Amino acid sequence: MSPPTRLGVVGWPVAHSRSPDIQNAALEAAGLRDWRYQLLPVPAELFEETVKALPAAGFRGVNVTIPHKEAALRMATEPTPRARAIGAANTLVFEAGRIEADNTDAPALIDALPSAPTGMTAQVLGAGGSARAAVWALLDAGAAKVWVWNRTPERARALTEELGGAPVRSSRPADILVHCTSTGLDGSDSTFKQLPVTADDLARYDCVVDLVYTSHETALVRAARERGISVVDGLDLLVRQGALSFERFTGRPAPLEVMRAAAALGDG
Ligand code: NDP
Repeated sequence: MSPPTRLGVVGWPVAHSRSPDIQNAALEAAGLRDWRYQLLPVPAELFEETVKALPAAGFRGVNVTIPHKEAALRMATEPTPRARAIGAANTLVFEAGRIEADNTDAPALIDALPSAPTGMTAQVLGAGGSARAAVWALLDAGAAKVWVWNRTPERARALTEELGGAPVRSSRPADILVHCTSTGLDGSDSTFKQLPVTADDLARYDCVVDLVYTSHETALVRAARERGISVVDGLDLLVRQGALSFERFTGRPAPLEVMRAAAALGDG
């Protein structure tokens, strides 16, 4: 019997990741029975030497999460233009000695929106790695204006100087609100104390996107749903970026509904 083709998610910490459940369900549904997807807890100082060793250990590719996305891009021999522009990669594919790198967070956001953001306005909250992908994706998809707020304003200014959009000190009304800070993990209403929007301010947006995903509904998602606003939640984005990575790893179409069901199973 030949050894399995291996995949995984490299992060630190990574124990909480839903990706193994989602990806293993997809592999099974696609009939790829000799493929396995596993957690790979790797601290920053060991990232490069570990990734270099993965192809010889039977790995076809890996997803990359906090804090390695920028280091992953630096290791790539063939980054996609969008990974290079965003400055971070979340998907590495090992191909005959080469390392291909992509950022699937960006197209996942555009796929998840109820309609293409062409000509629309967006307010992005945050200026970290996921905000960079969001700003790039929205502008690349033709958004008319993207405002960026961040707790540390200098980072919003630096991000917009590099990628486009405009830094703001308070939130603007817009078609789309995209929450990219790491607040909200506890599900409590204290999220709103740390953001420049109140629950009632959400009525100023037609669509609210929350990148944060937890085992329960976030306060932001709950407040938006209560007000009848269209919502894209973090689990939906996680599944969609994972589906795009799956297609790069396997060359097969991703079974999106199977992946969604696997993600929902652990949700609660
Ligand atoms: P980063 O660490 O790169 O950035 C964190 C951001 O959160 C910064 O803008 C930071 O602001 C802000 N922040 C942190 N604490 C606070 C606070 N108390 N109040 C206000 N702002 C705060 O993280 P990422 O961008 O990679 O990830 C952000 C979130 O998105 C995480 O929860 C992550 O799990 C989630 N995510 C979800 C994905 C999905 O598929 N659903 C994909 C990628 C990320 P400052 O600059 O001031 O420190």
